[in-house]
Amino acid sequence: MSDFRTTLEALGLFVYPKSIDEAEGTVCAIVRDGKEKLLAVSGAKEDGFSGTKKDSVKLCPLTNENAVAMMALFPYTKPQSHRGHPFTIGLGDRLGLATPGHVRAIASFNAFPIFAQQSIRELNLTHRTFADVIASAAFGVMQEGYKGGYGADGDHLKTKDEISYALSSGCTMITLDCSEHINTKAASFSDEEVEAAYAQLPSDIRAHYEEVYLNNAQPIIGALPAPDLRRIVLVFWDAVNHAVECYRHIEATRSVDVDFELSIDETLTITTPAEHFVVANELSLAGITPDSVAPHFSGEFEKGIEYAGNLEDFAHDFVVHQEIADHFGYKLSVHSGSDKFSVFSTVGRVTQGHVHVKTAGTNWLEAVAILAEHDPALYRKAHKFALEHRSEAEKYYHVSTDVREITNIDLQSDAYLPEYLKLPASRQTMHITYGLLLAESWFREPFFSLLAEHEEDYYTKLVSHIGKHLRYVTAEVKQ
Ligand SMILES: [Zn+2]
Repeated sequence: MSDFRTTLEALGLFVYPKSIDEAEGTVCAIVRDGKEKLLAVSGAKEDGFSGTKKDSVKLCPLTNENAVAMMALFPYTKPQSHRGHPFTIGLGDRLGLATPGHVRAIASFNAFPIFAQQSIRELNLTHRTFADVIASAAFGVMQEGYKGGYGADGDHLKTKDEISYALSSGCTMITLDCSEHINTKAASFSDEEVEAAYAQLPSDIRAHYEEVYLNNAQPIIGALPAPDLRRIVLVFWDAVNHAVECYRHIEATRSVDVDFELSIDETLTITTPAEHFVVANELSLAGITPDSVAPHFSGEFEKGIEYAGNLEDFAHDFVVHQEIADHFGYKLSVHSGSDKFSVFSTVGRVTQGHVHVKTAGTNWLEAVAILAEHDPALYRKAHKFALEHRSEAEKYYHVSTDVREITNIDLQSDAYLPEYLKLPASRQTMHITYGLLLAESWFREPFFSLLAEHEEDYYTKLVSHIGKHLRYVTAEVKQ
């Protein structure tokens, strides 16, 4: 393999040293020609890759087809189920550049990463496909020579079609978002309204829930008074049916092990322990044990900023949610985990590291920090654009910071610009406008070029940012 490296260097290529590996008489490496990364291939299986032959080496662009060929040759570059790993972390990568940094970030923690994690919303906003997202993660894994395994999460999927799309693209985790089947309006109905609406439900549904829960004490939550039960059924019965259908669809469609997460977090109302229990119990009665469940915890988990809420209330509820998760045999999943440093001690202590945490794509903000440091003029333009277009982005993301708190950038020196990514209002504005910015060629091209030039800086920032999350979650876990 050292000959291979010598050959590549003689061609004037930069070789990522950890990427060199050999299988089935074929040696591969990730290389860089100027700012373009390529997969260099030589040997028996090189016909399976498309590229241009130079000397004895085939230089292949980082396309999805070449990623598929690479994953076949080096199975560790292919996503896999995370089952059996206590602490799992969803990282996601909106730019397709962050995986090497994420590999380094998890290196000193006992955490199984989900490097590929995108919702349909994120795919649409970044004009990417699941195959693109997985290919980027796979090449990043190859670049770092990381062999610890990683998952690919089709995040916040809502329909069977979306699930089929994710599975056929190679996702190994499905996060089902039931929010469109949760009747949140019923949560604020008066008792009379609940009674009237409940009477309209199909009689077999009512009979089932009454038989299971009425006058029948349950573990952890005890007996449910009839008005509470009716309200829970009204809010969740359709979501439960949808979850069961989607789970059966996954089982019928999947060709590899797939982790199943049920998400009921993207609703306006907080999930009570009784609601969580009933939903989980219904799945259990249908023979389904999810790998993880994401309730809507108390307090505000807004994108890219610290937790806002009463930490004692959070801790109190979190203990009960964990008891429910233990009872049914799955992990809790904490969404929008980016920057929620104040809740991580509780999360780590209560779960003892048996938990799934999803970060919210803040690796994008770490990339923007590179911009603020190295191209102040472009950062200024992007900052103003983000402010002007924030209301468009608010259609997709719930944020509450006040743009009036953002000082006029024209009054600030270049040296100050990185501070804007630390102030909640400007940080959040930049966080949610990524799709709009990335659609602008005046931004996109120089931005990617700058990141290619400063990739080591970018990885260092990710090690620090993601490492901080991992450190806080794991600090309270007893070895
Ligand atoms: Zn979520």
